[in-house]
Amino acid sequence: MIVVIRPNTPRDQIDPVIEEVQRLGYEARPIFGSEQTVVAAIGDERTHQSLESLEAMPQVEHVIRVQKRYKMVSRQSHPANSVVDVDGVLIGGPKFVMMAGPCSVESEEQLLSTARAVKEAGATILRGGAYKPRTSPYEFQGLGKEGLRLLELARKETGLKIVTEVLSERDVEHVAASADILQIGARNAQNFQLLIEAARTKKPILLKRGMSERIEEWLLGAEYIMSEGNSNVLLCERGIRTFETYTRNTLDLAAAAVAKQESHLPVVVDPSQGCGRADLVRVLCQGAVAVGADSLIIEVHPNPAEALSDGQQQVNFDGFKQLMHDLKPLLAAMGRTL
Ligand code: PEP
Ligand code: MN
Repeated sequence: MIVVIRPNTPRDQIDPVIEEVQRLGYEARPIFGSEQTVVAAIGDERTHQSLESLEAMPQVEHVIRVQKRYKMVSRQSHPANSVVDVDGVLIGGPKFVMMAGPCSVESEEQLLSTARAVKEAGATILRGGAYKPRTSPYEFQGLGKEGLRLLELARKETGLKIVTEVLSERDVEHVAASADILQIGARNAQNFQLLIEAARTKKPILLKRGMSERIEEWLLGAEYIMSEGNSNVLLCERGIRTFETYTRNTLDLAAAAVAKQESHLPVVVDPSQGCGRADLVRVLCQGAVAVGADSLIIEVHPNPAEALSDGQQQVNFDGFKQLMHDLKPLLAAMGRTL
């Protein structure tokens, strides 16, 4: 870290800053300029206490961080792409992975017909919420344990792996018993206690970006999971809140590209939540492939008009088939296969 001292500060007021830097465990190297002095603090910023509190000293102008705050998530710590193994389905390698299925698990018929259709079109992972984080308490909250049972049934019949959301610490154990990937939703992206509990199951975790989260905060959420000893983390961009109203969220494909640069973890894009419009999902999938995402998660419903949640953004079976067909040349151009 670099501690910048206010211009024209006398030497006897710089010494207490140097002492404080040393007290916090850093080696202090002051660089005296004719007007302004800076103190370089040598030490690992990620394991030592932050020096930002020094900004409370009147003679300190500001403190500049040099290292990234995330360590295990950073590509610096692991230059090669990480591959997450979801019970034999590898995410982050040369194969592009499609996750698809309904927003919510609604019934056996709805889930199984969707599972068969998405599998036929090339998906290898089935999504479906059994516990749903709804804005209103009067909206469909999901089938809970019955939903998990149906997801297990769909896996048994089709061989698709299961990704499903865990909403609270209380549910981690039984959701993990049914799921192949635990989804942490946007609303829980910084529920650190939940992240820790989910991490301890050692299951792969799909970490959605919070709707108002900066990229750094999102990556620090992943750091919570990795620092708990679970390196099976998938970073999922799902759109952020902006002033725009033509789309539900603003899908931030730049963030997906930044995540690929900054981190070795696989990146998943969710254009369904990302724009909230079925008519845009296909082209946003193409955009996600073009910026280097490793996987897509798409909402698919047999009859979106009758869906119990997110009907406006779910594509039907034909829509999903068309989208998969149109992705193939792009995937080939990016050197990836399905
Ligand atoms: C979902 O996947 O249906 C969902 C609720 O996602 P998010 O947490 O991104 O809103
Ligand atoms: Mn949804």
